[in-house]
Amino acid sequence: RDGPLLLQEGQIMVYVRLRPMSRKEKEQGAMQCVDIPSDRDVALTEFCAEGDYLRSKRLKGRHFTFDVAFPETATQQEVYRLCAAPLVEVVLEGRNASVFCYGATGAGKTHTMLGRTRDPGVMVLALQDLFERLAQRSTTGEERSVKLSYLEVYNETVKDLLAPGRPLVLRDGEQGITAAGLTQFTASSAVEVMSLLQRGNQNRTTEATRSNETSSRSHAILQVFVECTARSPATGGRARRCGKLSLIDLAGSERALATDARTVRSLEGANINKSLLALSSCIRALVDGKGHVPYRNSKLTQLLKDSLGGACHTAMIANISPAHQQLSETQNTLHWADRAKEI
Ligand code: ADP
Ligand code: MG
Repeated sequence: RDGPLLLQEGQIMVYVRLRPMSRKEKEQGAMQCVDIPSDRDVALTEFCAEGDYLRSKRLKGRHFTFDVAFPETATQQEVYRLCAAPLVEVVLEGRNASVFCYGATGAGKTHTMLGRTRDPGVMVLALQDLFERLAQRSTTGEERSVKLSYLEVYNETVKDLLAPGRPLVLRDGEQGITAAGLTQFTASSAVEVMSLLQRGNQNRTTEATRSNETSSRSHAILQVFVECTARSPATGGRARRCGKLSLIDLAGSERALATDARTVRSLEGANINKSLLALSSCIRALVDGKGHVPYRNSKLTQLLKDSLGGACHTAMIANISPAHQQLSETQNTLHWADRAKEI
């Protein structure tokens, strides 16, 4: 695909990114159970119920179609250019946009969003692009500011990843729902952003049993506030444009994939990620086109209230693994993404 797709307000663009097989998966004799036959299609291989994968054969390939399907060879730049670059433009025009990575733990969400120093992901590439576009547009007399906040929602607690400390309280104010006391870092170049985000990522909550590893239940949200103020020489008046880009590395989607209301309710009692369920409910309400979207149900959805649905632009990247051991997670992720596509 040569260029990004046309965006429509209130619509969710849904992308799928397949990651390469890991060395560990190869060593475990994993079989590839996902194919990307075209730049829009994802095909699943279903194996014989007998369970002997080595002797299994393709029975029925389930097919899904998305806005773009990225094969394991897709680069970070390709993913950025098609999924997120159009949203940077939207934010420069003074509107809100968001990009989510959704998928099971280990499917490639953090790689897609944050990446590595030498192979940065959407968060860093978006900021790089943003600074470049601001420089190109430089209009005399226009003041610009780019501010960043990086926060975590873990177990319905909101934490500042740039200045860890006490949990933050959400307030509903003039600028929508914001976390009181959240650090806003003024950024002037993309170079300083990568180290800032890496440090922030190290502040994400880790599971007590597996230190060093980020908790699969932690959501990380990077908010980029872009403000342009133009002064009219003739009248001396000021015109202000504010846009917000939210880039979200969601918690692992395993066990929280319910897309119908009854399953959501039955899972609510269990110790399931409330924010992820609430996000599913909001997306379901947007799909159904009913007036009421239950943003109030979780911290994550409150924070995203002005960035999801309505006049916002949203990109959802569903990350999947090719390994047959992950087949049921992959299937769930694809079903969820398929549903989001209907918005
Ligand atoms: P998640 O955040 O969804 O739990 P990660 O992004 O941490 O998953 O990915 C799991 C592992 O796979 C990491 O070691 C990561 O570097 C690697 N990985 C994920 N996606 C890719 C990719 N597209 N190319 C190369 N390695 C990847
Ligand atoms: Mg991760």
